[in-house]
Amino acid sequence: MTSNREKKRAVAQGVERLKSKPGWDPHEVTPRSPREALRELDQASKTEQAYTIKCESCKTRRREENDDTALCEEHLKEALGFGGE
Ligand SMILES: [Zn+2]
Repeated sequence: MTSNREKKRAVAQGVERLKSKPGWDPHEVTPRSPREALRELDQASKTEQAYTIKCESCKTRRREENDDTALCEEHLKEALGFGGE
C-alpha cells in the first residue's frame, strides 16, 4: 500500500515538472517530434488567421481573389512593414 506521503511527493514532482516547462523540458533530450512542430506551425498560422479574419476587407478580398492568404490593402501594408499609426 502506497503511503499518502509518497503520493504527495509524486504529485509535487509532477507539479514541479510542469512549472519548469514553459515551452519544453530542458531535461528532455529527445528533440521535438515533427508532429509537435507541425502542430506549433499550425497554431501560428491559426493565430495569424485570427488576426485578419476579423477584418471584413480581408475576408472580401480573400473571397474575390479566391486566395485565403490575401489581405486588404491596410493589412497588406501592415504585413509588409508599412503599418502606420
Ligand atoms: Zn484587413
